[in-house]
Amino acid sequence: MNPPAVGIDLGTTFSAIARLDETGRPVTLPNAEGDLTTPSVVLFDGDDVVVGKEAVKAMATEGERVADCMKRDMGAREYHKPVDGATYPPEVLQAYVLKKLRDDAARQIGPFDRAVITVPAYFDEVRRKSTQDSGYMAGLEVLDIINEPTAAAVAFGFQQGFLNARGEAHAPQKVLVYDLGGGTFDVTLMEIKGTEFTTLATDGDVQLGGRDWDQRILDFVVEEFLKQHRHDPRFDPRTDPNTAGALWRECEDAKRALSARKKASVTCQFRGEALRVEITREQFQNMTRDLLDRTQFTARQVLRAAQLDWGAVDRVLLVGGSSRMPMVVDMLRQLSGKEPDTSVSPDEAVAHGAALQAGLLLAKGAGRAPAFRIRNVNSHSLGVVGTDPQTQRKRTAVVIPRNTTLPVKARRTFKTQKDNQGSIVVQIVEGESASPDACTPIGACVIREMPPNLPARSPIDVEFRYATDGRLTVQVAVAGDRVVQQDIARENSLSREQLDGWKKRIAG
Ligand code: AMP
Repeated sequence: MNPPAVGIDLGTTFSAIARLDETGRPVTLPNAEGDLTTPSVVLFDGDDVVVGKEAVKAMATEGERVADCMKRDMGAREYHKPVDGATYPPEVLQAYVLKKLRDDAARQIGPFDRAVITVPAYFDEVRRKSTQDSGYMAGLEVLDIINEPTAAAVAFGFQQGFLNARGEAHAPQKVLVYDLGGGTFDVTLMEIKGTEFTTLATDGDVQLGGRDWDQRILDFVVEEFLKQHRHDPRFDPRTDPNTAGALWRECEDAKRALSARKKASVTCQFRGEALRVEITREQFQNMTRDLLDRTQFTARQVLRAAQLDWGAVDRVLLVGGSSRMPMVVDMLRQLSGKEPDTSVSPDEAVAHGAALQAGLLLAKGAGRAPAFRIRNVNSHSLGVVGTDPQTQRKRTAVVIPRNTTLPVKARRTFKTQKDNQGSIVVQIVEGESASPDACTPIGACVIREMPPNLPARSPIDVEFRYATDGRLTVQVAVAGDRVVQQDIARENSLSREQLDGWKKRIAG
């Protein structure tokens, strides 16, 4: 039997899993609770690890045992707080979410181990690697890591009939994908030409999402509550994790309600006191205007990077649960002069696109012609740390500038510093700053076996290969001939042994 084509949207607040049915159409697989999306929340309950709705409920009573928003910490060594007294790498917590999605899906479609997982376009190399590691620890063979907006555009293209035999007949379209999820934000400009999906430019913010809108309501409600108690800090419900968890749920509910109604209320209960706070849609918009402005700024930047104006954009496609907020739709309507397209399901489009990509890769593996093609760009510049010969200061030497079409191979030549140099350390960084300290460190390639008797200023060729999944490999050639295929010694990554240890533990 053919393996199923499975795609996973591993979201900050919610995750979803989809497969292609017998006719090649993507369908979302409900979880064991019957829901199409699963909260990306993990509860450690003794030896039991519970993921999803039940874990969300526990936030109000056992906050210290619950982890949420792990995606925001991806790339860091540890999740930002201990969970049930223990520290966890964020990718391990994400692996538990993947395991739940996988187990629940397997009950419906039988056991499988291959899947495509999506990440925000703005995720850097380190965060992509962590996501791949999460897949590995959940017992998955990660076929590909693709960008969420690309996946959404593919799902949109499928829905519009672009991927049919006659899809080629469609006129090319430039689609701006505005993806505001629970914790991350991306804007990507794509061109759909027949069955080719090309990313023209992308930008975003991995620390901006629906959670920030929730937080503003929460802060407002707390402020009102504190006013009643003469700003006595003992009456700040944020100081108690359980109360804060329960209050956050209320505020998120109110936010959703404000997408449909003009008014909503939140009840704050703490230390035997209760206060019902009413919020109008207008108040909500005012208290979050700067957040919305940040997304608007990014959308403009993306067009600028692609050297296009709004007139060249055929469609504005809304993705991510938070794009349901009327303020988002209004802002984009005004900015683009077009009615934003809400035709794809913001919660499911990304998983559907990932399943379509999984189907494509499995078909390719079986020798069949792919139905479409994705062309992607890198969202951050990649470079190495060099020394300015004049100032002797450290500075970033860009090897692959951002928004370069992938895959790409690029090379730069550096010089040894002294005669008979014993080793070379090539430090790899990602980011836009000329100062390496302001960039994200990826890791280093260390070459210890240098050819003997090399004079100072001998050439060192550093070649970067950046694959379509946004993963990097590096080759270093010293004095023109010796090419060393290098493993990057990574800064914040789990070792193979650690990954295998966690994999066993997560499998239970
Ligand atoms: P995603 O990561 O794409 O699943 O997006 C989840 C985010 O969308 C969360 O912050 C939700 O609170 C938010 N969200 C979902 N539905 C709505 C809605 N109707 N109005 C406002 N925000 C929503």
